[in-house]
Amino acid sequence: MPLVNIIDMLSQATEKGYGVAAFNVENLETIQGVIGAAKKTGAPVIIQTTPSSIKYAGIGNFYGMVKATMEEERIKSPVALHLDHGSSFELAVKAIQGRYSSVMIDGSQLSLIDNIDLTSRVTSIAHLLGVSVEAELGSIGGKEDELEIDESGMTDPSVVARFVNESGCDALAVAIGTMHGFYKGEPKLDFNRLSQIRNNTDKAIVLHGTSGVPDDIVQKCIELGVSKVNYATDLRVAFTKALRDSVINSPEKYDPKVHIKLAREAVSQVATDRILMLSRGRSF
Ligand SMILES: [Zn+2]
Repeated sequence: MPLVNIIDMLSQATEKGYGVAAFNVENLETIQGVIGAAKKTGAPVIIQTTPSSIKYAGIGNFYGMVKATMEEERIKSPVALHLDHGSSFELAVKAIQGRYSSVMIDGSQLSLIDNIDLTSRVTSIAHLLGVSVEAELGSIGGKEDELEIDESGMTDPSVVARFVNESGCDALAVAIGTMHGFYKGEPKLDFNRLSQIRNNTDKAIVLHGTSGVPDDIVQKCIELGVSKVNYATDLRVAFTKALRDSVINSPEKYDPKVHIKLAREAVSQVATDRILMLSRGRSF
């Protein structure tokens, strides 16, 4: 099964009332864990890598590992390979050349005009090759990757229609109160803002920084129009905790597979839980 872009995947999710999980992966084992979860549940899934993960392992390795794992598992559900928080036009083009099926270009730190300009340059190339484009409007707080984003600027619903039309993006990451990384206390989301955004575009809406957001709040976001739900921190925590526990509990074992297999299982379990929570029993 070939990689697919996220356009049909997300419009189908909106139609059927579920959210598609987008999981950040770091290595072979996190890829195996996520694809294992997609196979177990029959759900479509988006596998994504940040610029720092790409710096760590390379676009070619991620593409190759995802494709090989899909074939190994004979997965039937749709899988997208997506660049998360693409930091430049050049990196987005590299991901497209490297056969990613979807890219995010993050111009959220630019002025509206410059964000539209950057996004539309990526869109014009991506769409020639059937690759989907996610853009960000407003700025999502917290720490993603090595990028520190200050907490100012939720998405302004009044410029959403213009941004989407002029940039040509297929999916829009919105700032409505979620944050990357760990939350201190209960996250407070602006549902009213989300509804206004939904009223101003029919493109897919993306929730970033979902790790640590209570299930009922995430599910409400899906009801209000979110169809792509990003998880990075939850998988990182599950992987590292399982690996650390195994190394501490079995210091006499030196075969890396013994330890890392448990980390892979932990990732698969968390990914399965999230997929089922986002679908609430609806069929894929
Ligand atoms: Zn993000």
